[in-house]
Amino acid sequence: MGFLLKILLFGVAVYGAYRTFRHWKGLFDRFTGNANPPQRPPAATPPQTAQQAPPPPRKPAVIEDTVQCAGCGAYISTSAEKCGQCGRPRP
Ligand SMILES: [Zn+2]
Repeated sequence: MGFLLKILLFGVAVYGAYRTFRHWKGLFDRFTGNANPPQRPPAATPPQTAQQAPPPPRKPAVIEDTVQCAGCGAYISTSAEKCGQCGRPRP
């Protein structure tokens, strides 16, 4: 019976040491800036696309390309025919 009790205590001690190690390692990583991000639930990627599926085609960027107006220096959209500031045609 004493042997089993020793094994049990040993297991508890190892578990406690493991938990203590993880706790202090987490604190250390947080202070050094190397903290691993907490295990996030994989909700960002649906399960059916997680298996080597090619990435979806990139959406067009929200920000439009702009060119600088030669006349007034304003940034105008490349889709604009002419500058909205001075009316000069787009270069
Ligand atoms: Zn202009």
